Amino acid sequence: MPPTATIEDIKAHQERIEKDKITPDNLPPCTRCNVESEHFKIHAYRERRFLIIIEMLIKAAYCSLVRFICPGCGKTITHYPDFAIPHKHYTRPTITGFSTSYVELENMTYQQAVMVDNSVPGYPESDSTEAPTLAPTTIHRWITTLGRFNQTCRTALTLLLQENPTSSICRDLARMIFPQRKYKTDQRRKQLVGCRQLVIIEDFFQSTFNSSIFTKLATRCGFG
Ligand SMILES: [Zn+2]
Repeated sequence: MPPTATIEDIKAHQERIEKDKITPDNLPPCTRCNVESEHFKIHAYRERRFLIIIEMLIKAAYCSLVRFICPGCGKTITHYPDFAIPHKHYTRPTITGFSTSYVELENMTYQQAVMVDNSVPGYPESDSTEAPTLAPTTIHRWITTLGRFNQTCRTALTLLLQENPTSSICRDLARMIFPQRKYKTDQRRKQLVGCRQLVIIEDFFQSTFNSSIFTKLATRCGFG
């Protein structure tokens, strides 16, 4: 089974919106004027298209996202549910799942990383405005995105070491070597390292705090 949010996850978020259950409390203070998020007001609902994988087919599913507005300066801030990463249509389990297999397995290529049980998730014929199947270059891009969560990783690492100062996490993070055929530039190597660090930190975070760095912590760190 390919990793993905389910249609039930997306419907559940829509239901929370309709029942007015989305609050701004977990958002960071306004980055422009520092007003605390509890004072944010609902500004708008925007419909968003997500791509989920159902029985190896990539399907569109829609739900709203809430935009809040800061009463101090008028800046608008989007609230993201746990299955969403800003500016991405695929859901977080899909993005992290495929990216993880590429950065964790030494011999993995992008062509192999899109495969699930010897086949590649594809778009149904009727709906095929994009590539017919999940593209290796898409995973390359996801890793670029996941490699940029530096602030989130630093904050999570601090919390982990406060909780367990003798944790082996620093050893695990230091032991990171990528085979040279996986990158041509130092910038790409840094993105691979950043992505793998995120994967390792998320694992430790899950087992230590029984929760994910997504979305609360990542939101507080501005998804950076
Ligand atoms: Zn503000």
